[in-house]
Amino acid sequence: MIDEEERAIYTGDHCLSCTSCMANCPVMAAAKDYRGPKLVAPAHGRMHFAEDDTELSLDFCSNCKSCDRACPSGVAVSTLNMLQRGEYYRKHPHPQRDDMLAHAERMAKLVNALPLGTTFANLGMKIGKNLGVFDSLGIAGERDMPAYASSTFAQEFRKIKQPSSDKKVVFYPGCSINYNEPHIGVAFVKVMNANGYEVLLDEAFNCCGSPLVVTGYLDEAHEHAENNVERILYWKRQGIPVVACCTSCSLMLRKEYEELFGEETMKEAGENVYDAFEFLEMLDGEGKFNTKLAPVNERFIYHVPCHLKAAGIGTPVVSIFRHLPGAKVELADAGCCGMSGNYGFKKDKYEISMKIGEKLFSRIKAANADDVICDCPTCRMQIKHGTQTEPCHPIEILAKAYQ
Ligand code: SF4
Ligand code: SF4
Repeated sequence: MIDEEERAIYTGDHCLSCTSCMANCPVMAAAKDYRGPKLVAPAHGRMHFAEDDTELSLDFCSNCKSCDRACPSGVAVSTLNMLQRGEYYRKHPHPQRDDMLAHAERMAKLVNALPLGTTFANLGMKIGKNLGVFDSLGIAGERDMPAYASSTFAQEFRKIKQPSSDKKVVFYPGCSINYNEPHIGVAFVKVMNANGYEVLLDEAFNCCGSPLVVTGYLDEAHEHAENNVERILYWKRQGIPVVACCTSCSLMLRKEYEELFGEETMKEAGENVYDAFEFLEMLDGEGKFNTKLAPVNERFIYHVPCHLKAAGIGTPVVSIFRHLPGAKVELADAGCCGMSGNYGFKKDKYEISMKIGEKLFSRIKAANADDVICDCPTCRMQIKHGTQTEPCHPIEILAKAYQ
């Protein structure tokens, strides 16, 4: 185990009551009933772990992690909230809605195992939306559920003929790329091949556990963490890094496991996990990034996901896009999009989610760029919903430029 004093659970003791977390919490600004990170996490959190008592406004926290970044004392505010939420649901039943949102991987596996399963599931989701079925289950009826792709990334991956190389990375697709947007994973393989890397896929990985953590299924998330950490360490022993294109997956693998569960192996595994553009930026720093790129001649507006900011690795997309001839990247710089994983799908959080996103929506509409780029799948869903644009992952743009 990590030294007790270093564990996230004890960082509440470092709180100075400065309220910086409260000033930076997007939910607090949008929902008057939320008592805010300072009261819910460090203050009430410490009492909660000592007695059987729960601050119910904890339910408002979206785990966006803006509070963690704002805290001058290093209090792991959002993690304290998620630990409290997990503790609450050890003693209370989960709503059926949360069971569905937390177990997207389970549903996707089932749908993909059935003949024509994805076709029927997509049709069923459309009909279900029109009949108000999701709404009656507590899922925001205004939202479209993400459609399943006709084949998974794993299936697409097997069809790709890659040049073999001594330089290898393991790609962690996560549920969204594997089941909904496999083309993003295909684009990643193309980019890595263009940079002299062979991409491996390890199908023993499972969902990173982020949807489980935010809905309070902490023990299940722990099981996912143990499996994934074992896989990451297996690759680490062979000197092969694990790379992800989804910023919430990569944050979970590299940082949140350790913060939530405090095991030394999680810290060790986290050191072998990279975000895709972070990895490319490292190559660039060593003069090994392939800059033979076709002109793009487009103006992009880039929404930096909160979970990329929480990783503390800057904006590697911006530095890599500097190599794209004719590309201009503008940062949206408009705060959280409000979606925060499955938070914006909850019927009772929909209005809050949209209110948080207003600033970003206005910024994107006013920018009138050729393309909106963002490396988080649920941020892209929220931007599409709030602006009627079609955001894409920046790796797709880069892949197109490698002809
Ligand atoms: S994680 Fe986000 S919503 Fe939750 S308390 Fe922190 S800033 Fe607020
Ligand atoms: S920002 Fe940190 S130190 Fe300040 S009130 Fe919040 S938790 Fe406490």
